[in-house]
Amino acid sequence: PFDVLVVGGGPAGASAAIYAARKGIRTGIVAERFGGQILDTLGIENFISVKQTEGPKLAASLEEHVKEYNIDVMKLQRAKRLERKDLIELELESGAVLKSKTVILSTGARWRNIGVPGEIEFKNKGVAYCPHCDGPLFVGKDVAVVGGGNSGVEAAIDLAGIVKHVTVLEYNAELKADEVLQQRLYSLPNVTVLKNVQTKEITGDDKVNGIAYVERETGETKHVELQGVFVQIGLVPNTDWLGESIERTRMGEIVVDQHGATSMPGVFAAGDCTNSPYKQIIISMGSGATASLGAFDYLIRN
Ligand code: FAD
Repeated sequence: PFDVLVVGGGPAGASAAIYAARKGIRTGIVAERFGGQILDTLGIENFISVKQTEGPKLAASLEEHVKEYNIDVMKLQRAKRLERKDLIELELESGAVLKSKTVILSTGARWRNIGVPGEIEFKNKGVAYCPHCDGPLFVGKDVAVVGGGNSGVEAAIDLAGIVKHVTVLEYNAELKADEVLQQRLYSLPNVTVLKNVQTKEITGDDKVNGIAYVERETGETKHVELQGVFVQIGLVPNTDWLGESIERTRMGEIVVDQHGATSMPGVFAAGDCTNSPYKQIIISMGSGATASLGAFDYLIRN
């Protein structure tokens, strides 16, 4: 069996695996998509001590660093069940069952869907989730941003510099973004902010041609013609597969303590899949290290 088995190969998982391997204990890492969200990221300028890099480049460095150590890397494998017996068992979609004394969950998160007609149908045909990746595809066009939190308002400010016009749709009566972002947003000439509206449908033929919404106060349905919709209503942790085995928040985030320990003895968690308040690369790596040291501490005490 493994001493430490890491589930997830993003910044948190890579960090956890390296910290474990450096203790000279048997370490494995299972990852559906090694690199995680950073594979979808363009510029990164807040990974401290690296002034500027690109996601795929950072992902390659993560993998290179992991390969420096004696770590059993199992790529393109998806975990589907976790159970504590005498050892902890991790079942993969392939049917294989891996056993380990400790497990570190670092399965990250993904963008939340609105769940309206047209969203799935027009994905990559006008519906986008990453302004950094897809913004340039909409040069000279009109787009909407669904969501008025920090990520939505940041996206709208970003897109306003690239596209012709941005319409922001916020469900609540007020935007939830930080004041400084709102001020910046309202200062832009090519942005319209619609508050207290519910997105009903993303319309189109072969690609997006508009968005329909209901004004919540009047109940009136309206339609705006545009070519792109950026969905920015938050991140969903990749933790559904855990079911009731581990304590999670209402949002599905794995609850961890200061050592990265979860509610299941010997199981630790790190990064965007946890209830850590901020989701960033540097934070994920730090929490990966914490969870790994937590697991090591557990091993020497049990
Ligand atoms: P993830 O990166 O999500 O990695 C999760 C890993 O788990 C992946 O390998 C995945 O394949 C795997 N996995 C998931 N489920 C399973 C399963 N069931 N079985 C096996 N493996 C599984 N942060 C910054 O600090 N700076 C930025 O500039 C920045 N820009 C961003 C831009 C975009 C477009 C996005 C999407 C994110 C950005 N972030 C940025 C956030 C940053 O990427 C995340 O905070 C970070 O990647 C989280 O790391 P993680 O290891 O916790 O999870």
